[in-house]
Amino acid sequence: MVLTFIDHVDGTPNEASLQALTLARGLARQLGTELHAIAIGSGADAIGSSIAPYGVSTVHHVADEQLEAYAPEAWGSSIAQLASANGPEAVIGPGTERGQEVLAHAAAELDQPMAANCVEVTPGEPVHVVRHQWGSSLLEEARLKGDPPMLTVPPHALGAQAADAPGDAQLATFEPAIEERRLRVRVSDVETTQTEGVSLKEAEVVVGGGRGVGSEDGFRILEELANELGGAVGGSRVATNNGWRPHDDQIGLTGTKIAPQLYIAAGISGAVQHMVGCKGAKHVLAINTDDESTMVQKADWAILGDLHEIVPAITEEVRKAKG
Ligand code: FAD
Repeated sequence: MVLTFIDHVDGTPNEASLQALTLARGLARQLGTELHAIAIGSGADAIGSSIAPYGVSTVHHVADEQLEAYAPEAWGSSIAQLASANGPEAVIGPGTERGQEVLAHAAAELDQPMAANCVEVTPGEPVHVVRHQWGSSLLEEARLKGDPPMLTVPPHALGAQAADAPGDAQLATFEPAIEERRLRVRVSDVETTQTEGVSLKEAEVVVGGGRGVGSEDGFRILEELANELGGAVGGSRVATNNGWRPHDDQIGLTGTKIAPQLYIAAGISGAVQHMVGCKGAKHVLAINTDDESTMVQKADWAILGDLHEIVPAITEEVRKAKG
């Protein structure tokens, strides 16, 4: 079997996990083996129906009250123990913060290497992988020696595709033996920031603002446009560092990776650390005074001029079009 770790919230897997399952299914097919999943934490036992369409034949539900809340080392230990007991041909996870952390712990316990952010995997000894490096700005070919090979898949690099035929996703309970020391780090409390409307990660339209916006107040016109388009507002690091937007709104290497249908980048130059966060956008509209800025050069469309005039004008046109 190829075993895939599912990152989820209360039984709802995130998109990155479905993308990891898609890559894992391709590998399982090449190896002529089954696709299994492992789900840990609150709501994990309800995950089957969401991942069955991706061809999962068995879902290993880790049943342990101590692991209901996120505990990276202990979760990793559960995966390591399941792998030791079942001898999977590969262990795969999503390249989310949790996916990377949990798989790294599992690999350390198994004393195996882990390759992060792989977009291609070809079976063999050693396994051949192609992976994202430098914030997805270059592709590296590597040979992965591991028993089992362990790897993660970067979010939004591949699409999530359902299988031709769904799997049974039969629930199998797994009870790991968790040592107390593995629970040194665990989530004790969760504080959620109240975001109105659609989240930046999942938004189909994102309106991003950078230094050109000029102030916290300046973001109002971006919010108005995002509201009209049913989208979310984000920003460059300049916008978050200046306190114009909360850190959660940062797009980029050290922020959120977005994958909307349309990214409207207003007053953002297009530094590499920003571009790696928005490279998943299907289309980009740049609004900038500088026709030589990277964002303008790389965008599908650009409007040259002052965003303080252009953004409200677009909002107005959208309102008119909506009647
Ligand atoms: P600038 O580069 O200053 O660009 C401002 C743009 O606005 C210019 O193109 C200008 O022509 C245009 N402009 C100005 N006035 C107007 C106007 N009135 N109308 C229209 N256009 C106007 N950055 C991120 O964004 N995300 C990250 O995750 C991130 N991580 C980083 C990690 C590291 C380790 C480092 C070193 C840097 C990181 N950065 C990140 C910072 C990054 O290098 C850039 O400094 C930053 O993205 C620049 O933000 P900006 O485009 O808003 O500002």
